[in-house]
Amino acid sequence: MAKIVCVLYPDPVSGHPTSYARDTIPTIATYPNGQTAPNPKAIDFTPGELLGDVTGELGLRRFLEAAGHTLVVISDKEGPDSQLDRELVDADVVISQPFWPAYITRERMEKAPKLKLAITAGIGSDHVDLKAAADHGLTVAEVTFSNSISVAEHTVMMILSLVRDYIPQHDIVRAGGWNISEAVSRSYDVEGMQVGVIAAGRIGLAVLRRMKPFDVGLHYFDFHRLPADVEKELALTYHPSAQALAAACDVVSIHTPLTPATDTMFDADFFAGMKRGSYIVNNARGKLIDHEALVAALESGHLAGYAGDTWYPQPAPADHPWRSMPHNGMTPHTSGTSLSAQARYAAGTREILECWFDGRPIRDEYLIIAGGGYAGTGAHSYAVG
Ligand code: NAD
Repeated sequence: MAKIVCVLYPDPVSGHPTSYARDTIPTIATYPNGQTAPNPKAIDFTPGELLGDVTGELGLRRFLEAAGHTLVVISDKEGPDSQLDRELVDADVVISQPFWPAYITRERMEKAPKLKLAITAGIGSDHVDLKAAADHGLTVAEVTFSNSISVAEHTVMMILSLVRDYIPQHDIVRAGGWNISEAVSRSYDVEGMQVGVIAAGRIGLAVLRRMKPFDVGLHYFDFHRLPADVEKELALTYHPSAQALAAACDVVSIHTPLTPATDTMFDADFFAGMKRGSYIVNNARGKLIDHEALVAALESGHLAGYAGDTWYPQPAPADHPWRSMPHNGMTPHTSGTSLSAQARYAAGTREILECWFDGRPIRDEYLIIAGGGYAGTGAHSYAVG
């Protein structure tokens, strides 16, 4: 029987909810590319409830304990004497969410000889040292597509919020003010602007599709070219590099996985190559960005705004410079953990566990590392560039 360690974010300060704003959520059976949503044999939770906190347990306890396994759910994950370090030593499986990442380093793997499976409840497995995972024969799997549309929606919200300067206007209202000239002094229309995505995978393409009705020019860069009919339908301009795209755009949205090749790829040189007054949205990973260079580009006025929900490290310390840099529209890492998304990635986590314990193959699109190297989506999306 296996021991599963599940690292989740803490409950709300007011306690795990007992009621919700809505009674139901829509059922999404199929994603835009035809991939089916997670289909475990059963689920033991009500879709739309909070599942990603410690009390929510991703709805896994009944299923795992009925099969004789041990489930340990914790949130304490930092430092050498963390609960994670203590529990991981004899664990077979670790589950973590990118919103509250359990950094599974080589050192931690070396102290956990039984560990064979690391599941990302969500998308983006960069919190696992993937090279070390391959060396140790671990399988790393994530719930591909489970929250891609959630992130795309958050991205569109942030593009509109930055360009129209929504958050400061709302702050004026909350403070009892009514100075229109002040409220509009940084407010523009998105219509007619040039909007580009760096990486046009599941999220990047969904952002392009959602921005099309705003009558903007659409651009993308990815190592994988989109099908010609999609380029034509969306009137896309393809650029041969991230830099070329940035020089042509007013708004740049970043959607690349974090890998050794993309770590800090958006630096002072990159920002200098953008037009003055450009906006950046990054709901991919905070570590893709040179932190100090970003703050400098906003303070100098070269960039007009930056928004995103991904930080490094996470949780971000109270004095993290991105909390107070000018013209930021940051959120904590929430875009992929709406209550709607949680239902899908909790079901997907259970599907992966069912396959693992039944000895059935995990869907290829869920795999990042398997058999000592990149596999599935890992081979397509992480091993490029
Ligand atoms: P995906 O696998 O569908 O697409 C990733 C794309 O990135 C691929 O097309 C790949 O070719 C491209 N790519 C890789 N390196 C590149 C580079 N250097 N330059 C340009 N393109 C590059 O993944 P997805 O579902 O679109 O998710 C993308 C990333 O978004 C994830 O890896 C994760 O880090 C992040 N994400 C964040 C949240 C959140 O809650 N904020 C949720 C889900 C995913």
